[in-house]
Order: sequence, then structure tokens, then C-alpha cells
Amino acid sequence: MTKETHAAPYPHPAGGWGSVKEVGTILLDQGVLLKGGNLMLHQNKTDGYACVGCAWAKPANPHPFEFCESGAKATAWEITSKTIGADFFRKHTLTELRTWSDHQLEAVGRLTVPLRWDPDSDRYVEVAWEAAFNEIGQELKNLHALDPKNTVFYASGRASLETSYMYQLAARLYGNNNLPDSSNMCHESTSVALPKTIGVPIGTVNLDDFEQTDCILFFGQNVGTNSPRMLHQVQSARKRGVPVITFNPLRETGLLSFANPQSPTEMLTTAETQISTQYLQVKAGGDSAAIMGLCKALIARDDAAQAAGSARVLDAGFIAEHTAGLDDFAAQARATSWSAIEGQSGLTRAALEEAAATYANARRVIAVYGMGLTQHRHGVQNVEMVSNLLLLRGNIGKPGAGICPVRGHSNVQGQRTVGITEKPKLAPLDQLEKQYGFAPPRDEGLNTVTACRGMMDGSVKAFIGLGGNFLRAAPDTVRLEAAWSQLRLNVQIATKLNRSHVVPGAVNYLLPCLGRIEIDRQAGGEQSVAVEDSTGYMHGSRGRAEPAADTLWSEPAIVAALAQAMLPSERAALVPWADWVADYSRIRDAIAVTFPDIFNDFNARMWTPGGFRRPVPAAHREWKTPNGRANFIAPATLEENPDQQPLARDILRLFTIRSDSQFNTTIYDLDDRFRGVYGGRKVLLVNPDDIVRLGLAEGALVDVHGVTDDGLVRTVAGLKLVGYEVPPGCIAGYYPECNPLLPLEHHALESMVPAAKAIAVRLAPAAG
Ligand code: SF4
Repeated sequence: MTKETHAAPYPHPAGGWGSVKEVGTILLDQGVLLKGGNLMLHQNKTDGYACVGCAWAKPANPHPFEFCESGAKATAWEITSKTIGADFFRKHTLTELRTWSDHQLEAVGRLTVPLRWDPDSDRYVEVAWEAAFNEIGQELKNLHALDPKNTVFYASGRASLETSYMYQLAARLYGNNNLPDSSNMCHESTSVALPKTIGVPIGTVNLDDFEQTDCILFFGQNVGTNSPRMLHQVQSARKRGVPVITFNPLRETGLLSFANPQSPTEMLTTAETQISTQYLQVKAGGDSAAIMGLCKALIARDDAAQAAGSARVLDAGFIAEHTAGLDDFAAQARATSWSAIEGQSGLTRAALEEAAATYANARRVIAVYGMGLTQHRHGVQNVEMVSNLLLLRGNIGKPGAGICPVRGHSNVQGQRTVGITEKPKLAPLDQLEKQYGFAPPRDEGLNTVTACRGMMDGSVKAFIGLGGNFLRAAPDTVRLEAAWSQLRLNVQIATKLNRSHVVPGAVNYLLPCLGRIEIDRQAGGEQSVAVEDSTGYMHGSRGRAEPAADTLWSEPAIVAALAQAMLPSERAALVPWADWVADYSRIRDAIAVTFPDIFNDFNARMWTPGGFRRPVPAAHREWKTPNGRANFIAPATLEENPDQQPLARDILRLFTIRSDSQFNTTIYDLDDRFRGVYGGRKVLLVNPDDIVRLGLAEGALVDVHGVTDDGLVRTVAGLKLVGYEVPPGCIAGYYPECNPLLPLEHHALESMVPAAKAIAVRLAPAAG
């Protein structure tokens, strides 16, 4: 290993002193030790601000410190004392900035002034807000005259409910449903699968269920990095003796053990809690097979019980009263051979039967899952399989049980709730028409994959990015980047600099906005916003920090100005944009009119401790499916990625991962301490036997080549091999660095989520 990148196993639990040290380090690095410490007392509190990290649930009775290491990093990153203005860009051309890493770009600090790219000098130049909107508006009007569908309105999952509602309305007034959001890249498989199986697009559990459960299953969800506060609920369940069974290709620290940094006893002793009681290192792409193994074992036990006249293993009463489709599913489970299950999952029959026995002994089971399930060709099927498993024993719609998809970005679920969707059938178009007096477009808009296709074929000419770093988050980076630079208009609304800002279109703007943690002062006084957490609860969020600069505009103000600039005046006048910006409670009143079942009395209820919940009919066994029942759905195949070349002597399956110093495309630093990788991200985690088998050596540099039959070359060069406990044939590499290997057309069926968890690749000694 070279000096700069090295591996050393991390022998400690998640949390503990390691977390405390990390939080202190980032607060210090960002120059906000005191400020950050004080602010974080308000993080995820009823009268405070909602974490800008993940979307995990916020309790009614929070701890004094209701944040995790990831949440603290997200806060420090946003309230950093580092800022950049026009002088920074006088020193750096975009050509130079394109040589910087993702970490370097964001680390320079908060953007403070609106910027327009000057093609002659290849630099961003400060511009007045009004001038920016004048030109952007004129460009969008010109493009609209060509075709209103050539513009994409992308939203990252962070914008508030208020901003998101305004944004979808602006796009539809403009004339399209091109509203991809980051959900297109993660949990869209959930949003497609669960309406079919249980009639809701979101999970059914809440925090109370964790207190009553007697078994927790984790599928492809790395809780220690992606939703660390959940470890409090899991730890307290473990202390009650609740078994936790984990399915994950990697042995993740947060799923192995945890020491609560808020517990003096655990901090002063070496006490830690073992999290997983059984850990099954499933192959990447082996989840459907593994879950089929569990179901097969349960059905076999039930068959035996019936033959013996003893108590049923399946919940026959629930199945008869509430479900449909068991016979077909059970027949398929019985007919599926154990050898097929073992071959696809990489797990033994004995291990799966042991897990099934634990599941069968529990009366209330929660199944937690993440992108390890959703980002496969058959990602939708994977979610259906989790639902099948739970339905077998009536584990949906009763206290202590249910399905728990864990969303990443802090309001990614909420954005869908208020209409950010490319699918017209999911948006309240009739109501919008009635409420605002216009005819919303009714045809399907662009999602992430089709928007990328549109950029590549030239039909998409403008991209408006409400946060995020689309260029790095999306698949097929190299091809996309070439297309991105051909955009006529690229407008990015952001707090920090990233790659999507330094690959310019012909006309390129970078508009800096307030972060959610900052005080948002408008004509009507200080404003608050709201977000939805992973469990379907809405929370108010009040900024507490002084803004990074007084030149920043809020996201609602930017969206309102954009709408007024790009729409013909008579269209723009259909919405009271200025009144809304003056007082966001008026936006919430409008949201309540559009979605009365969810948001009635929104302004009063948003400060309810613990939030107020949207209706989740499946949580009380009301099934809003076409047949009015919860549905078992038999899987089409156990091969989750049949579009990829099968494993072979030299063909491996790459799955992308995030480090514990990372939030989506934001890289806080180069270490991944939980996995024992330090000082660099250009590494591949590979089974030591595979390294030997391929004639390579640990620490060697390799080039990774995509294996496809589309004739396109996809390569990521110069990754360092790290021997790691990962199933044979599977390798892990960091996102987004490995995105160039992910073909755009390798996406989940139905949901079109990029299938980043199983990419066929070959390794070769580094060429240069
Ligand atoms: S678990 Fe998620 S919401 Fe909670 S503090 Fe951590 S990053 Fe923020």
C-alpha cells in the first residue's frame, strides 16, 4: 500500500469515542467548534432544525444530543466558517476546477454570490440576482418556444416541502413533468413495489414499533453510516434480547456492534452492544434468493405443522382475511430448489433455515432495507420479496412489526409527497388545475435515466438543479459529462461548489442559497419550513445559524424568482409568488388545499412533538391496492441482474458503497474508518482468494473495465486492491468514483433506479 492510502481494520464499535473524536475534528476543521456545538443542541428537536443529513425519524422526546456522527458532519459542513466569493473564481478557471476532487471542491466553503460563467475567461463572474433571473428567464422562454419538454427540473432530496411544492408547480406551469429527484436513484423501487403489495408507497413502521418488536431484519442497509440514530432504537431492542438478522455482502461495523456516545456508562467502560445476532454475507444480487430461502423454509415448516396437526407457522387467519396470491407464491417457493437458492445467494441452506427459525419464533418483526435491495435490475422484485416474507406471518399492520425502507436525503420522501414526480398519475393534477386555473401537462415526464438519455441524444437542452450534484450522482459519468457540456442552459442552486457546477453548458449560472440550518428572514419575519421523515412524519424546521452571507437567497425566493422570470406574465400571475416568499405559512396553506388528507391544519400541526403522520393505511391493515388486499407477488427470477454478464473466472460483480465520511456525493474526508480504509477512496475491496486467483496482489493498482455488450468502453483506472471479507466474485468500490462503470441502461425494471449494486467488471493490472 502507498503511504497516502492504507488499510487497517477498525477494531471498535460504531459510535463510542471514535464518533466523538470525528465530530470534534470536523467542527474544528470547519472553524465552528463552539457555534456547531451550541447549534446541535437544536438538531432534530421540535423547536429546532431538521438534520440536513438523512431522513431518519425524529422522536417526540429527543435525547439532549439528538444527532449522530453523520448528522454532526452534515451540520458542520453547512455552517462552516469557510466561504468563497467572486475573488475565489478570479483565481481558478473551470478547466482547473475540473481537476479537483469532489472533496476539494466542496471543502472550499459556502458559495456567497450569484455567478455566471464567462466563456472567454473560463471563470465564474459575479452577477446581480436580477440580471441572472432576467437572462435565465429569457433563455427558458426561448427554449419553451422550441419545445417545453426540453428542460429538466431536478430536485435533490434536501429541499423543504414548501420549496418542493413551489418547484413542481413552476415546472408544470412551464409545461412539463420533467421532475426527476434523487428518489429516482434510490428508493423508487420501493415506491413502485409497495403500492402493489400493500397499497402505500412508503414504509409502515414508526419509532414506537421498534419498542415493541421482537425481531429485526436488515437487508442491504448500512445503519451505522446511513441512518446512525436508528442504532439507538436497535440497541435498545437488543438490550431487550431482540434478535437482529443481517443480510449484507460486507460485515459493516454499525451492524456488528455499537457503543452509545450519549451513555456515560458505555463511554467510560468498554461496554458495547452486539447488534447482529446472525450475519449472513449474501452475494451482491443474491437478496431475492436469500429471501426466497427464508420463505421456503417457513412454508416447509408450516406444511409440516399442518401434517402433524400442530400450530401453524404461517399466520393463516391474517392471510385468509387480508391477502391474495399466496398459493402461487407458495407453489413457487416449494418448487425452487435449495441448490438454486444457495447458488444465487451464496448462503447455505442451514444458515437460511436458522434465520427462518428465528423469524418464525418472533411475533412482531420489522424488516429494514436500503439501497442494497433497490439498486438492482430486479430491485422492485427485491422489495416485493421483503413484503412477501412479512405477509407470511402477518408482520404488517400490527404494533411492533412492518416494513421499513430507510430513505437517504432528509426530505426525499416528502418531495414526492408534495408533487415532485415525473409520473402524472402520482401528482394531483386535477386539483392543481382547479386551484391555480391552468391545464397541467398530462404526459409522462423525464426521470433520472430518461433525462440522461435526453442529454445524450440532445433533446434535453436545459437543466435546472435544485441542489444536489446530479452529474456525479447519475450513472455513466463519462458519457453524461460529455452530454452535459452540450446543454444550452445549466442553472444550479447550491450551497457549495461541486462537479455539476464546473462542467458548464453554453449559458451557466450558479445561484447560492441559504441552508436549512440558517435563519431565513423574509418580509414577514423569520421563516420556518417542514420536511417528511422516513416513517411518514412531518416536522417543522427553524433555522438557527446566521447565514453564511447576507447576499444569499432562500430556496423559496429563488424558485419564485425563477418562476416569475421563465413564465409568461399571465401564467406567473396565477400564483402569489411574492406573498408566498414573504410568509411561508401561506405556501403551507396552499399545500393543505392541494393535499387535504395529508396536510390539513399544516401550520398548526407542524410543530407537534415527534411530527404529525401522513395517513399510512397499510399500518392499520387497510389495503389501498386495486383488489383491496395485501398481495403476495411471486418473483420472476432469482437472478437479480440477468442483463449483466454472469460471474465467470474473470468477471466480477462490483457494488458501490459510501464511506462513513460521506453523505451521498458529499465527501467530508478521505477516510472510511469503519471499513479500515484511510487516506484515499480509489480502492477496491476484494476477496483475498479472488486477488490470488486473478494473479493480482494486495495493494496493487488495477484498472476496472465494465463488461457490457453495448460496444462502449467504461473504465475506472488506478484503483488499489484491498483484501476484504466480501463474498467470492463480489467487489466493492466507492460511489460516486465508480459511477463511470455503471451503464445508463443497467437500471431496475419498472422503477428505473440505476442498478449500482451489481455491475459486471473485469480487473486488469493498471496500465499506466
Ligand atoms: S441519523 Fe440521519 S437524521 Fe439523524 S442525525 Fe444522523 S444523519 Fe441526521
